[in-house]
Amino acid sequence: MFSGLFFHSLIDGIIIGIGFEIDFKLGLLTSLGVIAHELPEGVTTFALLINSMKRKTALKLSIAVGLATPLGALISLTFMKSLSQAMVGLMLAIAGGSFLYIAASDLIPETHEEKGFVNAVFLLIGVISLCFLSKTING
Ligand SMILES: [Zn+2]
Repeated sequence: MFSGLFFHSLIDGIIIGIGFEIDFKLGLLTSLGVIAHELPEGVTTFALLINSMKRKTALKLSIAVGLATPLGALISLTFMKSLSQAMVGLMLAIAGGSFLYIAASDLIPETHEEKGFVNAVFLLIGVISLCFLSKTING
């Protein structure tokens, strides 16, 4: 469970780096979006971990999960410069689609009754809309 949460937070940070690589304003917006869900995510991480380990260990691992986000941002800000604009746009589209997927699948319980069809449609809408947006921003 820890590795999954750590990987998720690392990706959150990478998304921030991608946002700043495209545009400063987009970087700020992606940062806001990621930061807004970090607090509830941190509480949830601690609550999940404490069920299977000592309180002190759960706290240490929760802090590690929290630090994965700035680590991901540093990694992406370091390596994004070597990627093509098309690749950065594609990564942004996947990130945006993933967030829309999470919003459509995990945050709206009714969509679980649809056996994934609605979720897949929202994921596709997210990917297409952000491909369009990244093309608009980059001209
Ligand atoms: Zn997250």
